[in-house]
Amino acid sequence: MTNILVINAGSSSLKYQLIDIDTESVIAKGICERIGIPGSLLSYKPADGEKFEKQQDMKDHKDAIQMVLEVLADREIGVISDMSSIAAVGHRVLHGGEKYSEPVLINDEVLAAIEECIPLGPLHNPANLMGIRGCMAVMPGVPMVAVFDTAWGQSMAKAAYMYGLPYEAYEKFKVRRYGFHGTSHRYVTGRAIAHLEKTGLPREKARVITCHLGNGSSVSCSLGGKCVDTSMGLTPLEGPPMGTRCGSIDPAIVPFLMEKLGLTPSEMDTYMNKKSGMLGISGVSSDFRDLDAASRSGNERAELALQMFAYKVKQYIGSYAAALNGVDAIVFTAGVGENDRRMREMILKDMEFLGLDVDFQYNQDCPRGEEVELSRKGSRVHVYVIPTDEEMTIARDTAALAL
Ligand code: AMP
Repeated sequence: MTNILVINAGSSSLKYQLIDIDTESVIAKGICERIGIPGSLLSYKPADGEKFEKQQDMKDHKDAIQMVLEVLADREIGVISDMSSIAAVGHRVLHGGEKYSEPVLINDEVLAAIEECIPLGPLHNPANLMGIRGCMAVMPGVPMVAVFDTAWGQSMAKAAYMYGLPYEAYEKFKVRRYGFHGTSHRYVTGRAIAHLEKTGLPREKARVITCHLGNGSSVSCSLGGKCVDTSMGLTPLEGPPMGTRCGSIDPAIVPFLMEKLGLTPSEMDTYMNKKSGMLGISGVSSDFRDLDAASRSGNERAELALQMFAYKVKQYIGSYAAALNGVDAIVFTAGVGENDRRMREMILKDMEFLGLDVDFQYNQDCPRGEEVELSRKGSRVHVYVIPTDEEMTIARDTAALAL
């Protein structure tokens, strides 16, 4: 048994999974919430045990990691004897700028680089750093690996990642498209290529479009497993409209609305990130299940939000098929992509021109939580639903570098 601890640290939360990399199985997982806020809560679920919760103040991420280690090694409900049975730690890190296109073993230089990228990831990078530093304090000497969400987008050509702004915006401020959800796109692309290889298509020729559709959504495309384009940009705001994010809009709307509504830059940022998208259009919810229910009971704006989302995702698929000069596989993943059958149908219908022959009945009936193919035998393009597994990807990357 070789245990890897995978950490995803947010500003006041810390998700964790303990993975046995020999068998690629999750031994235990959970989350610490309200870190640094009164009423901190740890939840913990061993693979074959009851869910456990403990309320105990955690003043910082170091306290949180300490509590995670204690519960993992607890005599009654724990899954390991002590901390020494954790071989390495893998950290999800949002932004690696242009420096990292691969996961990397964490040292002082890497810490400094993550810090340098704070202007590009002002909410996440500081939280990720707190998670790493907390772990280093509690687990000295244990190798740690950073897996960057932006690494996937680093293979894009300059023509794909540049914006049509004066060149100085790139040179002085690194304004360019980076893309996010990279670990998820990489994982599901790898799985899709494994399926395509079985049909006789060599890896280097595989043209794959991946739709990571959840609360945040991005569409990406790749050739031979290397990202060619991705819909998120300098920030996760670009792309289709999302749960609460507006997605791509005419940039002139920004100064227009700031003036009309009297908003500061930071208030405008909140308007576009937290009040827009599915929530802003529908006025109902950011959650696709709520929107579906509202639309079924006749709420026209909820239905409009769903139609807008489907239309934009369809447009991305079309534009990426053009970028790749064709497509061999389209993949759906994440909360909406894996579960929302109606949304998949709305996106996939009327796409025969691309070479899609989808079994829409099977799209309704297929099992959840499994890799399934929605296209019929003979369809030129394969359509898959592939549950994403970012934690396992981080654990594999960590094992490859640290063990
Ligand atoms: P994620 O960000 O990947 O966790 O995805 C969250 C989104 O997935 C939310 O909008 C959920 O409404 C949506 N989702 C999860 N389960 C379902 C489901 N069974 N049907 C429709 N949408 C779902």
